[in-house]
Parts: sequence; C-alpha cells; structure tokens
Amino acid sequence: MNDALAAVWYAFAEGRLHFRTRAALEAHQERLARGHLRWVVAHSPAVAARFQSAGLSPQQWRTLPPTAKADMMANFDQLNTAGLHLSDVLALARHAEDGRDFSGQLRGAAASAFAGQAVTVGLSSGTSGTQGAFLVGVQERQRWAGVMLRRLLPPPVWASVMRPQRLAFLLRAEGGLYRSVQSRRLSFSFLDLLRPVPDLAAALTAANPTLLVGPPSVLRALLNAGASARPARVVCVAEVLEEADRAALEAGFGPVVQVYQATEGLLALPCRYGTLHLNEAHVHFDLEALGEGRWRPIITDLRRRVQPMIRHRLDDILQLDDVPCACGSAARRVARIEGRQDDALVFAGGGGQPVTVWPDFLRAALNRVPGLREYRLEQSAPDTLWLLLDPDALPTRTAAAAEVTAALARAGADTERIDLRFGPLLPAPPGAKRRRVVRRAFSELPVLKVNSEVKS
Ligand SMILES: [Zn+2]
Repeated sequence: MNDALAAVWYAFAEGRLHFRTRAALEAHQERLARGHLRWVVAHSPAVAARFQSAGLSPQQWRTLPPTAKADMMANFDQLNTAGLHLSDVLALARHAEDGRDFSGQLRGAAASAFAGQAVTVGLSSGTSGTQGAFLVGVQERQRWAGVMLRRLLPPPVWASVMRPQRLAFLLRAEGGLYRSVQSRRLSFSFLDLLRPVPDLAAALTAANPTLLVGPPSVLRALLNAGASARPARVVCVAEVLEEADRAALEAGFGPVVQVYQATEGLLALPCRYGTLHLNEAHVHFDLEALGEGRWRPIITDLRRRVQPMIRHRLDDILQLDDVPCACGSAARRVARIEGRQDDALVFAGGGGQPVTVWPDFLRAALNRVPGLREYRLEQSAPDTLWLLLDPDALPTRTAAAAEVTAALARAGADTERIDLRFGPLLPAPPGAKRRRVVRRAFSELPVLKVNSEVKS
C-alpha cells in the first residue's frame, strides 16, 4: 500500500476511536497496552532492563518508575528496536539540517524487528536543554498522517479526501515525516524557516494551502509581512498559542486550531469544536500534580514500536479543563500548555535590513556545544547578545560563540555588527518559567514590533 492510501485508510480507522466514556477509553487503552508492552519488552533491551530492575512484569507497566529525555538519549541504542546507533542518527540528522536536505532515512539493522525497513530520523532542540533524536517507522508515519488528516481537515473525512488537499508546513527541520504523503490529491510543501521573512511570505502565498501548519509566532510574522492564504484550517504547533495571536491569525488567514506535538509523539489534537483533547486513543497519560491546577505528563505511547515511549516524563506543564466538551469525547481537555516560552530575535542583516532569528535555530546551535549543561541567550540591545552559560568556562564560551555565530550568519544576520557577551547562568527563582531565548524590551528597530507583540 502506498503512503497516501495508507494515510487515508488510517484516517477512516480513526473514526472508530471516538470514546464517550472514560471506562470505554480506558478499556481500549488496556487492550492496546497488553499486546504492546509484551512486544516492546521482548524487543527493546532498555525497556526490558527497566522492568527487570523494578521487579515488574510487562502487565504491571502502570507502576514502572518513569524515565526522561536524558535517559532516553543515554540508552538510545538499547531502546530502539531497529538496531540503530545514536551516532549514525545524529550524523544523518545534522547533515540534513546543515544541507537543508531532508530526504535522508536509515534502514533497520538486519537482526532487528525492522530489518531493511525505512526509518525516518529527526532531531528536536526542545525547550528542555537536552537534544532529542527521534525515529519513526513507515507504518507509524502513515498513521501519523492519517490521524492528522482525520482530525484537522473539515468533516466529513470522505469529502475532504476526495478534494485535492495542499498542506503547507513552516518548520525549522522538515524530517521525512512531513514529505511522506505525496500524491495528486495530497501534497505537502515545506517552507524552510531559514529563508528571509518576505521570501517565506511570498512562498506561502504561492503555495495556496488548504491546511497551513506552523508555530504561531512565525505565522504571525508572515501575516504581518503580507502573506495571503485562505486555508480551511490554520494549525498552530511547537509554541504556546496566545489569544492575541489566535485572533490575528483567524482574522488574517481563517479558523485556527492547535496541535500539541513533540519529539515524544502526537500528544493532543483539536476536535471539531476546536477544543484540544489529549490523544488518548493512542497515548496513555499519567499526570503528576504540581499544584495550582498544573500537571506534568508521563506518557506511554501505545503504538510506537521503533522508539518506544513507556512511562516517559515530559518537560511540558499542562493545565486541564474539567468541563465536558460538546463533541462528547471522553478524552481529557487541555486548557493550556506551558514550557515553551522563547522569543524570536531580530538583528540587522548584511544590507542593514532586519533579519528574524527563530529561537529554535539558536537552541539547536547551543545543543551542539559539548559539556554545556544549561544556558540562556538574551538580546539586550539591537546589536548585543548575551550568552549566559553553565558551566561558564573558556571551552564552552569558545564553542558556544562559534555555534551561535554560525546560526546567526545562516539566518542572514551581519555577525560583524553583533556584540557577543558572556556571563554565568545564575539559578532561576523557583517556579519561574524556563526561557532560553529572550529578547529584552528595547525600541530602536521598528520591525521589532512584529515579535514583541507575540511574546512579551
Ligand atoms: Zn471536543
């Protein structure tokens, strides 16, 4: 079956996964979990070792001590079931990001459960400091595309898939994930965030998408730069969607919905009323109470096999809404996602024109610095960027300066005119929101308005 057909098949199958009671939803999860956990423990040495050291059987997965991204990366080779090595994955993914060519895939190792099969590779800088590498198998990305189609295109799904759909993605790094679905009726275009904002705005207008996907700060900047499109849905990803952005995007482009997706999976999707529901038909969520209505999710993905996510603690903080949704779904409602609060920076380009530098590029650059535990970048003036580092030692300063300078140059900024300054990163006050890329308020460059409205 080709990718587009498979995606449509999954889109229809998704229709059977609407649960009206918690009991029915939990029974469905338990059914999936039984087979899934048995398979994962049999094929992933890292997951098997966790169960063994806790003295638990696969059926006792609900009480398994949680893991986190740092452990996932440290045990990457033993965790994945395609026999892939982190060094190969990082080399391929970085090559793809540097060359802006995302066709690269790896093949599952001969002795693995996915021998010879294509595995899509990607990196995420995340907002948590630890870089994540992700692996997605053929069937997993087909299901991903099917779920997205089902939940994001206007109902009924059969009518939507009968019409040609053009999906435009504005993302830092595409990954083969997004180009996997390509046919006459279904086309995906990838607009590279490394291009200048006016070029991106023109490319978006030319793409004339029926579904437009991107971070709200980027969509807002393109709208302000004159991009014109009337998609059936504007899908905001990767950042918290602020009310002011939602209103502006709705007025400029059309109906806005939000998707909560991370390296760790497709975590929440909107229903037809625009409410964001946890993706509980595919992912089990345990929630740790943080007080004041805030929760930290520990996810168990009940589908992913190439890179299993079993009792995996996320960095994001969720606020939930207890009021039942009019759609009748028993899946819990997300009122707000916290933990992604970075700013875009603006510097002068070679010809003196303003150039936007997205925080994602800077986080990716800093993730490459060996030995760097934590950092914050603060633009304190139009030509001044502070690198606050932990540890603030000469080797980390030198490496951080080189990576940041390269990232700024690639974005088109005139690095000769940017003053890099260094200092130690002091501990944040308890409970403070974690922000790694920050633009302090200053008013010299008029174009800063574009971004200062978004996050301040
Ligand atoms: Zn709903």
